[in-house]
Amino acid sequence: MNIPFNKLCLEGGEIDNVLDTIRSGKIGGDGKYNQLCQEEIAQTLGTKQVFLTTSGSSALELAAIMYNIGPGDEVIVPSFTFVSTVNAFCIRGAKPVFVDIRPDTFNMDETLIEKKITGNTKAIVPVHYGGVACEMDPINALARQYGLRVIEDAALAFLSTYRGRQAGTLGDVGCYSFHETKAIVAGEGGAIAVNRVEDVERVEILREKGTNRAAFLRGDVEKYVWVNVGSSFLPSEMIGAFLYGQWRARERILSKRKAIFDNYTRLFQPLIDNGTVRGPVIPGPCAINYCQYHLLVKNEETRNRLLAFLRGHRVQAVFHYVPLHGSPYAQKKKWGKRLPVTDDVAARILRLPFYNSLTPEEQETVAGLVYRFFGESKKP
Ligand SMILES: *Cc1c(COP(=O)(O)O)cnc(C)c1O
Repeated sequence: MNIPFNKLCLEGGEIDNVLDTIRSGKIGGDGKYNQLCQEEIAQTLGTKQVFLTTSGSSALELAAIMYNIGPGDEVIVPSFTFVSTVNAFCIRGAKPVFVDIRPDTFNMDETLIEKKITGNTKAIVPVHYGGVACEMDPINALARQYGLRVIEDAALAFLSTYRGRQAGTLGDVGCYSFHETKAIVAGEGGAIAVNRVEDVERVEILREKGTNRAAFLRGDVEKYVWVNVGSSFLPSEMIGAFLYGQWRARERILSKRKAIFDNYTRLFQPLIDNGTVRGPVIPGPCAINYCQYHLLVKNEETRNRLLAFLRGHRVQAVFHYVPLHGSPYAQKKKWGKRLPVTDDVAARILRLPFYNSLTPEEQETVAGLVYRFFGESKKP
């Protein structure tokens, strides 16, 4: 049996919607399905407006441009994240200031942020790791106190909540990804939740290539013209059509993923209880979207041997982020400081196969191999 890490699982509507779009003859951006997605997602999330983007990365870039973050500015970010979180700001000349993570959730440690704030700090960028929201109340309080923007990287946290509110709607803007490895997918694609009404027009102009085309389409102006800088961030209708199929099936998708997550927890509970491994930690204020399941083992050597053992039995488990502060680029720019928790977690974490159609039998195979590995590694 070959158990991949990820697998595309269709819910039905995706193919119908994509065919419908092609047959309609309108495959450009912001047609029927993109608009349906934007309207329904904004309403469900409870935010001012949602715009689809070509990726989670481009949603983050849009946020950086929106708030004029550039040379001389600093943004406070975790190092335990995907490169796009930081690239979005560095590509515009800003400097990332890395903050260590909490040992339980692997989210940025909110108690370490204030020390990193300088006169140049423009924004805090919380990344909701594994779909678990950061401690947003203290982060927002700091942002208010120091006049900073909060740009949530909610790429992994679409439909996760914090104190009953949707991840991505807790700061100024939230960035989501529908990359094929996330919980709700469209191949590529992303979205930005604009949580302040005064920012909506700015985003409309930025993603319409710097024109007031959105106002023109509403009939607010007679012709549309170049009013500011901008670019093209909107995906084609094919992405919106596929995404709308997933969106309409979101409750089914999340309940399948919850069952898989809970089953992994049940299978690993004895190993968790005897301290051999640690599973995901979900603090009280957080409800997750079940985007992944990970284990933390005792050291890097064990993690790497376990990964190799699983792969040897055709189970595709994977590690996660290679910390950014130690990467060649960050080292060259002298942005790297020691971050003990980040380095420790990155060395010991592994993620197990996780997709909507993963069967209980496949999960037993994965768990059985993990048990066998630890049984065998105890032998002299
Ligand atoms: C996936 C991911 C991104 C990037 O999203 P894309 O849609 O692949 O561009 C950004 N940040 C985090 C934390 C991610 O997991």
